Amino acid sequence: MSNDHTDDNNTNDHTSDHGGDYEDVCYLCRRPESIAGRMIHIPGMNMAICVDCMERSLRMMESSSFNPNEMMNNFNLKDFFPGSYGDGDEEDDQMNIPNSQRVKKRQKDAKPIFDIGHIPAPHVIKGQLDEYVVGQERAKKVISVAVYNHYKRIAANLTDKSEIEKSNILMIGPTGCGKTYLVRTLARLLNVPLAITDATTLTEAGYIGDDIESVVSKLLEVADNDVSRAEQGIIFIDEIDKIAKKRNTTSRDVSGESVQQGLLKLLEGSEVEVPVGATSKNSMAPLVTVDTSNILFICGGAFSDLDKIIRQRLTSRSSIGFEAQLKDAFDEDKNIIRRVTAEDLRNYGMIPEFLGRLPITVTLDPMTEDMMVRILKEPKHAILKQYQKLLELDEVKLDFDDDALHLIAEKAMKKDTGARALRSVIEEYMLDIMYEIPKDENIGSVTITRDYLEGKGGPRITLRTEPVKGITQILEQDTPAEG
Ligand code: ADP
Repeated sequence: MSNDHTDDNNTNDHTSDHGGDYEDVCYLCRRPESIAGRMIHIPGMNMAICVDCMERSLRMMESSSFNPNEMMNNFNLKDFFPGSYGDGDEEDDQMNIPNSQRVKKRQKDAKPIFDIGHIPAPHVIKGQLDEYVVGQERAKKVISVAVYNHYKRIAANLTDKSEIEKSNILMIGPTGCGKTYLVRTLARLLNVPLAITDATTLTEAGYIGDDIESVVSKLLEVADNDVSRAEQGIIFIDEIDKIAKKRNTTSRDVSGESVQQGLLKLLEGSEVEVPVGATSKNSMAPLVTVDTSNILFICGGAFSDLDKIIRQRLTSRSSIGFEAQLKDAFDEDKNIIRRVTAEDLRNYGMIPEFLGRLPITVTLDPMTEDMMVRILKEPKHAILKQYQKLLELDEVKLDFDDDALHLIAEKAMKKDTGARALRSVIEEYMLDIMYEIPKDENIGSVTITRDYLEGKGGPRITLRTEPVKGITQILEQDTPAEG
């Protein structure tokens, strides 16, 4: 029970702190105080029960057939309090079933960049993505169109959902090329909940691992248990190539083909019952129904060795006659993955029904050194900008020579983990700079050169002409004059 409650109240029937950030949650129906109303606190226990539940429990206990276990197990919230959980007619109908005894009061959502009810044209979506994601022009274009169509389809509120096909997406690209980052950025711009799961953790129901439907529970959790918000969200399933059909196996393939089979109905759109606040249906958590027909599914994977399958197809097709291609004709083609077809993916081990439910396939290009350099300096939250901002607080200007940036990119390329390696490489170099510069108040600007990074000299430093301002002076200068 919270400390906010006054203990001189003998009835123990009082509401929680309305002015604070937290509110109580009913132990039985899991509705927060803002929805369920007045809470009754049980003396000596960390437990609050809403008046509705209290009345109903007392009535149940009075009846002769009362069974406490049955009451807890069959707690179907929708039957219990229709209207409060998203199936009533009220406009503000909201699902909100928290898992703990006290939850943060619901904040008004931050204003989204895009309103999914009036989704802007694809070029506007791409324009926003451009500010964060470097390169991958085709992928950004395809995704902008897919997302535009997807949310337009929802906004149109078609009675026959099959009239326009769902725009689920399959993303293929090597590790660290920006698949997850692209999806994350998109979800943030649209202000829709995003759940990211790893296909390797999923198994057929009944086996060790997460049930397939746990991906929906995760989305519900991210959506603060708001069913209607979750139903418009995005589920990103990473490492989808790892659930390819296993070849030459005699045992039951519970984490490969069966997972693909299990995902079919989710991808297509169906109503699934998921536990609130837990990933297993066996838990005591109450169940709610989530309709996945408007959830955008994006599956991503590196599909290593897919290039070999594509190459084989391309060379074997044209091995006879005048148009015959030499066996090594495509060896140099770094972007061969762009030529992928459904046939190649089937040969890789994805089942046709699964591919059929991901109508959009998009490939991302492997990182090049130039792309890495651009990632270092161009995006809104670029690593260089972050370092510059940090030193700016000490009134030191930080610059990097282009040669130096290329050296960092070269080193990161060698790690073979795409753009993910950039941060660790640059952090290693910047440690000394971030340690030494604040020592000397006379330093006005620092330029990181390639020679410095290669250990052949120091960075280029210029001293400031004016004495450094104290923090109070900076604040004074930044505060607009009153009146
Ligand atoms: P993966 O393709 O394996 O999902 P991620 O999207 O997780 O790779 O990329 C790892 C990190 O690298 C991201 O967090 C992001 O900071 C950076 N990154 C990768 N690709 C790009 C890109 N095209 N533009 C900007 N940053 C990128």
